[in-house]
Amino acid sequence: MTADVALNVARPEPERADLLVWVKNTLRPEYGERPLSPRRDPMHELVSTILSQRTTHADEEAAYHELRGLGDWDAIIAAPVETVAHAIRRSNYPESKAPRIQQALVALRDSPGGYDLDFLRELPVKDALKFLTDLPGVGIKTASLVLLFNYARPVFPVDTHVHRVTTRVGAIPKMGEQAAHRALLKLLPPDPPFLYELHVNLLRHGQRVCSWTAPKCGVCVLRERCDAYAVYDGRVPSWKA
Ligand code: SF4
Repeated sequence: MTADVALNVARPEPERADLLVWVKNTLRPEYGERPLSPRRDPMHELVSTILSQRTTHADEEAAYHELRGLGDWDAIIAAPVETVAHAIRRSNYPESKAPRIQQALVALRDSPGGYDLDFLRELPVKDALKFLTDLPGVGIKTASLVLLFNYARPVFPVDTHVHRVTTRVGAIPKMGEQAAHRALLKLLPPDPPFLYELHVNLLRHGQRVCSWTAPKCGVCVLRERCDAYAVYDGRVPSWKA
């Protein structure tokens, strides 16, 4: 890297916002256009995302399937916590997720809308995020996924892949995932289809190219504008969260 190359991360916000538009447009030919449509119902999205924490997609699905085998949401609340933990054992940390899922279900059951989350479609985004993140076990990522995927609200879920790629490229400085939600949203247009496609394609890129260890910079379409590629001359080290 030559000393006079300015890093993206040192640039003002409007330029980093443009960088994210470029990232989205550059990833589209690689992974395709991603029309915004719900992949599963809102309660499924909510509970599955709690199960997905530090868990593979296959194990998350298996855990959700077995959990629903216990019955409807009321039956899951009524089941002994050990039974719920056993049902979700394919998910990591079932002993802590089981009581949190039951507590979240109780809070929803006792809320005015019950298990029907459709009121989130109309609620101001700030209030919708607060409602969801007030539920036990529900963080900003889970809340953002439900609001964007199911209700096309203008929020941006930041998972580990989105966090890693956007940080390496230099759209945001190094910070935790929680803070990255706020920092990235500030740079992004309030346009749900844009946000959805960027989220999904960054996730794919993080899984296939910009991996935790040994990112495949040599075949990466983002390398010409990537801070990490410039700083490390293409030999980008493993990610340390
Ligand atoms: S150039 Fe390397 S570090 Fe940068 S986004 Fe691509 S794979 Fe990741």
